[in-house]
Amino acid sequence: MDARAMLLVLAAYTRARLRARHLSSRERLVRYQDRQVRRLVDYAATHFPYYRAFAHQDLAALPVIDKTILVGNFQNFNRFGIDTDAVREVLSEGRERIGEAVVGQSTGTSGNRGYYVITDAERFVWLGTLLAKALPDALWRRHRVALALPGLSDLYRSATSGSRTSLAFFDLAQGVDAWADRLVQFTPDTIVAPPKVLRLLAERGQLTARRIFSGAEVLDPLDRAVIEQATGVRVREIYMATEGLFGVGCAHGTLHLAEDVVHFEWRQDPTWQGLAEPAVTDFTRRAQAMIRYRMNDLIELSDEPCACGSIYQPVLRIAGRADDLLLIAAPSGEIRTVTPDVVRNAIIDADPSIDDYRVVQTAPAELTVHLDAGVSETVAAKVRAALAARLGAMGLVPEVIVRRGITVPFDRKLRRVMRQFRAG
Ligand SMILES: [Zn+2]
Repeated sequence: MDARAMLLVLAAYTRARLRARHLSSRERLVRYQDRQVRRLVDYAATHFPYYRAFAHQDLAALPVIDKTILVGNFQNFNRFGIDTDAVREVLSEGRERIGEAVVGQSTGTSGNRGYYVITDAERFVWLGTLLAKALPDALWRRHRVALALPGLSDLYRSATSGSRTSLAFFDLAQGVDAWADRLVQFTPDTIVAPPKVLRLLAERGQLTARRIFSGAEVLDPLDRAVIEQATGVRVREIYMATEGLFGVGCAHGTLHLAEDVVHFEWRQDPTWQGLAEPAVTDFTRRAQAMIRYRMNDLIELSDEPCACGSIYQPVLRIAGRADDLLLIAAPSGEIRTVTPDVVRNAIIDADPSIDDYRVVQTAPAELTVHLDAGVSETVAAKVRAALAARLGAMGLVPEVIVRRGITVPFDRKLRRVMRQFRAG
């Protein structure tokens, strides 16, 4: 990371701090977002072919899109005209640049890859914004920040020192063992990494940072408990994806949406039990459009203002992916929606020895539960009984198959509850 990059990070940091001060009420925030969104729509109409017909229109006139639409028209959503074949070809050669564009793919889900185009400048703005929200005092305090996040791959060999903050990057694709020693030697006071990485480091006693941020994957309460018990540090959450930066946990432990860089719209469904799915409009992105993009995440918003004083919307929890809602057939044949936390709570409350699990819906009325290899028959029976009780109360009697043996995927996203069976 060179001096110019560090300047971009610092400039973005400073702008985000100024916004936090200036946007002191929801009214000011809404006015600010309106201006930014209007600017973005005009830019989109002239730079992204997909939006050519929408010049000067209101955001609400633009179509809501999702990953399928984006991938299917990819070259029309970025200003370089890069298509998915070009992205795949470059990535297959182990490169990630096409001209000034940096391309990548999300490691999210099976058979349903997302692709993205970003510029270096946008990545550094992203990083600066993240740091401003995570470390609001960084300009006058010394910080040593370790980052192990997807999407920063060509920064991994560089450690960088700008003003008082040192950044070091660690490559998730190499696996934790490749750099755990280097991480310990770096003695970070702040670390940002996926929860499974934090948990592994915590269990080995290699997590010494005083500020711990979990990002890139949903933070499961089970992992949170293990990390916090091992370190005595409260884990703060960062809601991010290759699609952008969507929220950062404050010092009070509340996740606040990054509404100074992203505009959120919410879709609700009566079967989602209070959860809502965001469509995001990122008004900082200029290489690729991210406008009214449906995130496939289910989120519970909070009505309570946070004690930290931030006016950015507080989030109670990110419940998981909408695609992973379980759709379980009742004996009558009727399909009922079950949110992932229902099965998760049933399993982890079944026995205190359970510290990891997977649940896969494998058929309309069949769940396969994976537990640790060493789990006893007694514990397995408790899990079956807990699920039968919890789902039985909802009128559901799926067959529950228990299997032993769990692996943690360090090269892609960990999803503990997922639906493999596709309805309809
Ligand atoms: Zn707060």
